[in-house]
Amino acid sequence: MAHTIVLEAEAILDQAFPVLDKGFVRLVDYLGGDARIVQSARVSYGAGTRSVREDAALIDYLMRHRHTSPFEQVVLTFHVKLPIFVARQWVRHRTARLNEISGRYSVMKDEFYIPTVESLRTQSEVNKQGRSEAPLSREEAEAVVEGLRAGQKEAYAQYEAFLKKNLAREVARIGLPLSLYTEWYWQMDLNNLFHFLELRLHPHAQWEIREYARVILEITRKVAPCATAAFERHRLHSVTFSPEAAEWIKTRLQGQPDIPREVRERLGIV
Ligand SMILES: Cc1cc2nc3c(=O)[nH]c(=O)nc-3n(C[C@H](O)[C@H](O)[C@H](O)COP(=O)(O)OP(=O)(O)OC[C@H]3O[C@@H](n4cnc5c(N)ncnc54)[C@H](O)[C@@H]3O)c2cc1C
Repeated sequence: MAHTIVLEAEAILDQAFPVLDKGFVRLVDYLGGDARIVQSARVSYGAGTRSVREDAALIDYLMRHRHTSPFEQVVLTFHVKLPIFVARQWVRHRTARLNEISGRYSVMKDEFYIPTVESLRTQSEVNKQGRSEAPLSREEAEAVVEGLRAGQKEAYAQYEAFLKKNLAREVARIGLPLSLYTEWYWQMDLNNLFHFLELRLHPHAQWEIREYARVILEITRKVAPCATAAFERHRLHSVTFSPEAAEWIKTRLQGQPDIPREVRERLGIV
């Protein structure tokens, strides 16, 4: 089979999908799609599948049984504009290849992330890393936004003053806050991308990175719709149980009529 062209992906190449107040995600390029996954899987399973339905079933099988290597044959490259605090979390995913704008080489733009007044929440009592559902009062939230804006303005004015004194850019930038926007090209294979999405779409991940993950999920769906559906089915929206919890469920289901085959197999119900 020749070079894979996915028309839905071609249609969105280079299109900037906005995220947060000034960020975006752009699909720069892709290598392979559902067809490449099937094609590479056939190398290990032999020339078996033929119809689109059979191909989708094969992809579903591979995902369900964690036969991950065929998914690594698909690669996506993104251009992302994101605040530095989001980039700090994002960059922990080590299996990517990336190239970021250099603040040593370029003058950083006066572009900072400002959350909306409506999005501001209090610290969560149950999740030490997260925010609660409780909003700040309108007055408090407006003061926070104003405080952020003033801090960013002051920091950028100082940065510009340092540059005017011909201070090296690599030092002039160090007082700029984490809300400053940065940009990078980021490339990942589909298996690791699904891992990234599973972690960064999770409600425990910070809302801002979840917003990027949400957009990347939809772009990925254009490139590899069957694989993305299988990922959602078997990983993103599936649940796992500890042996104790599984045993509890099993004892309650034992003897019940109409237990779905998948449940019976997974829990070992005879
Ligand atoms: C909600 C949330 C909260 C977090 N909080 C914190 C925090 O407070 N502090 C903090 O430091 N981090 C934190 N992290 C980051 C987290 O610990 C991981 O570093 C990050 O999610 C990347 O996961 P990963 O290593 O599985 O993924 P990747 O780096 O993308 O790797 C993918 C997979 O490749 C394999 N792999 C990659 N590199 C290696 C290697 N060198 N050796 C062996 N196997 C490898 C592993 O199987 C890994 O799962 C948090 C992450 C999330 C989602």
